[in-house]
Amino acid sequence: MTNHHTCLRIEVRGVVQGVGFRPFVYRLALTHQLKGFVLNDDQGVSIEIEGAADSTRLFLDDLRATPPRAACVTSIETFLIAFQNFVSFEIRKSPVASTSKTVPVAPDLALCQECLNELWDPQNRRYFYPFINCTHCGPRFTLIEDVPYDRSRTTMAGFSMCPPCRSEYENPLDRRFHAQPIACPSCGPSLSLLDPSGHKLDVRPNALIAKCCELLREGKIIALKGLGGFHLCCDATNENAVASLRARKYREMKPFAVMFPHAQAASEFVLFNEAEKALLQSMAAPIVLLKKLRALLLAPSVAPKNQRLGVMLPYTPLHELILKTFNAPLVMTSGNRSDEPIAYSDPMALERLHGIADYFLTHNRPIHTRCDDSVVKIAHGRPIFLRRSRGFSPDVVTLNQPFSTSVFATGADLKNTFCLTRGNQAILSHHIGDLDNFETMLSFEEGFLHFKCLFGAIPQVIAHDLHPGYRTTKWVQENFSDAQWKGRVFGIQHHHAHLASCLAENEHRGAVLGLALDGTGYGLDGTIWGGELLLCDQRDFIRAGHLKTFALPGGDPAIHHPWRIAMALLTQVLPADEILVARERIFPEIALTQYSVILQMLASNLNCATTSSCGRLFDGVSALIGCTREVFYEGQAAIELEQLANNTYENRQKSLEPYLFTLTPNSGQSKIPFELDWRPAIRSIFQDLDARVPLISISYKFHAGLVEGFLKMTQMASRKYGIKTVALSGGCFQNDYLRDNLITKLEDDGFTVLFHKALPTGDGGIALGQAVIADRTYRGEKSCVWQYR
Ligand code: ZN
Ligand code: ZN
Ligand code: FE
Repeated sequence: MTNHHTCLRIEVRGVVQGVGFRPFVYRLALTHQLKGFVLNDDQGVSIEIEGAADSTRLFLDDLRATPPRAACVTSIETFLIAFQNFVSFEIRKSPVASTSKTVPVAPDLALCQECLNELWDPQNRRYFYPFINCTHCGPRFTLIEDVPYDRSRTTMAGFSMCPPCRSEYENPLDRRFHAQPIACPSCGPSLSLLDPSGHKLDVRPNALIAKCCELLREGKIIALKGLGGFHLCCDATNENAVASLRARKYREMKPFAVMFPHAQAASEFVLFNEAEKALLQSMAAPIVLLKKLRALLLAPSVAPKNQRLGVMLPYTPLHELILKTFNAPLVMTSGNRSDEPIAYSDPMALERLHGIADYFLTHNRPIHTRCDDSVVKIAHGRPIFLRRSRGFSPDVVTLNQPFSTSVFATGADLKNTFCLTRGNQAILSHHIGDLDNFETMLSFEEGFLHFKCLFGAIPQVIAHDLHPGYRTTKWVQENFSDAQWKGRVFGIQHHHAHLASCLAENEHRGAVLGLALDGTGYGLDGTIWGGELLLCDQRDFIRAGHLKTFALPGGDPAIHHPWRIAMALLTQVLPADEILVARERIFPEIALTQYSVILQMLASNLNCATTSSCGRLFDGVSALIGCTREVFYEGQAAIELEQLANNTYENRQKSLEPYLFTLTPNSGQSKIPFELDWRPAIRSIFQDLDARVPLISISYKFHAGLVEGFLKMTQMASRKYGIKTVALSGGCFQNDYLRDNLITKLEDDGFTVLFHKALPTGDGGIALGQAVIADRTYRGEKSCVWQYR
């Protein structure tokens, strides 16, 4: 076979800028003795190569097989072109007209192995330098102010490169070629240690880390400026320190995350398998929820009443230096006071963390966009994202079908993330938080403006949650009510959005049965939904079934005091006098007067919200059996109830009979075909409590019964509508038992089950669904659900 010459044009798409792609191509071309050029353009990276056919083939193989680890290549297209007679291979400047706004911005990346080696090499000029980075690691998203991604448009603009840094920056063979945050001790950012009034402590620069560790050993709390904001940290083995952090932060129960010096050190405290270890050590370096070992050597207040511990490894050189010097686990929690957003500038930290932090370890590299740590767990080999933020944001979901125009979807008010679309890309924001105060709302608005600028998208269609009381809904009403927005603003039902997000992620067109098991979402009838079976597609839905409704006495407060929900459930299965008698046995800590007030409220249906929420049913049952009487953070009752069931599961007591949930095909005035009635289950729980059946068994029987119930409802609906595909979404599917058993049983029964791949199943994943539904509605697409009526 003759080895003739070829000339190829290669177009690479995806996250390929700011990740060392051009030097990689350059080196590859030299290795294979090819001539031509590589450049960044507004679509990604373009390459032209000329040389022996064998060499070009090998070049392509390598290009596909070994891209830089921070790159995320979505496509590589090749075209044969005419000979150009190149004389060398070079990295060319980007075309002037290119705006680069269609190229995804890379997320922040954890410290790479090569930089790590240099950090600990006394001969290296960046030895012990807390801001070491290269094209394969370091900050990106959090310091970009505008695009194209270039040092002058980052928060590094104020630092001018020293000659050695500049020569690395300009050398295509160097791994710091065009590494925008490149820095060294002589030209880059530096640390300082402040007292609460903002005064610098008089410590030599290279003794700062040691001083910090000394303070931590004394039990002090330090606010530490990281990649996307401040962390509050303290010695995780010192109960006094951890307890005072809880008290000062007003965080009673919600678990703290812990950072370990390395995986080996973590293995003395938690269990993890290879997949979990890989996730811990991945470039995104998220918080991974891992099973605690029985004899936990950490302070009890780190993660009270929780079988899991949120674990992460050092992901910046600064963390690395501190953790290795301290050589023991540190609590590493968001630098905020209760529900405020995480502080990310010195003045903000000094003001908001006043009274919490004893000292502030900060630096002069500004953070442009705050970004919280991501949280993920692995269950049955599947990553379950509880929060997708640092290391993943900005997250791009590429769909087969382009959006008809740019859509902005606000997301939900809790665990807010928003979504901006462009072409066939849905760009998902970092975690904004719970929009229940002015600061988080401000952060939401800043994020919206920043994303518009970063991705060059001007939204023409707006989507928000249907809830009239949501802050996002009010924000939309305030900002998009002019005549020009008529017919372009859409309120999207919460659970339809959950399910549409799952459908979009799975690229599923056509109608499915969607189970949305969730906390709370505003329903079409004005009640609170959350245990729903929707017959839906990406355009519309029919409510096909739901959990039997119950009351939330007093509305929202019932969520924090779930014994009220327990009473609402009891009133539907027991006469009032029996409930009154039962108080001393099941709610001894609730005063009789308080108890009677709630009973009266329920009897007269006064000040009671109505709900079909699965999450609230969990809360009620958890309270009823005494597992959780007071809720301090969202999902707490359900998590604690699930842990009980997991115990049973592990003890293989599978012979226990699940509680009965009955399915009543609706008749009479209700137009909803199916209702799942929990009353038989509550009756049995009450009897089991009397018979002193262990709580772990009760919890297990409840979980198992609920799975059987929803399975039955889905089967009946499947028979009625002739649909065999089921989508699952909503916060309750964070529950491993519920999710894994329901998926297994549905699949065993021949159903195709769709579940989230990367997006959270909770409200943090809802914005994509809102965007998709609004787009399909705007373009006037016909829904296929109506043919099933
Ligand atoms: Zn590096
Ligand atoms: Zn330098
Ligand atoms: Fe929800």
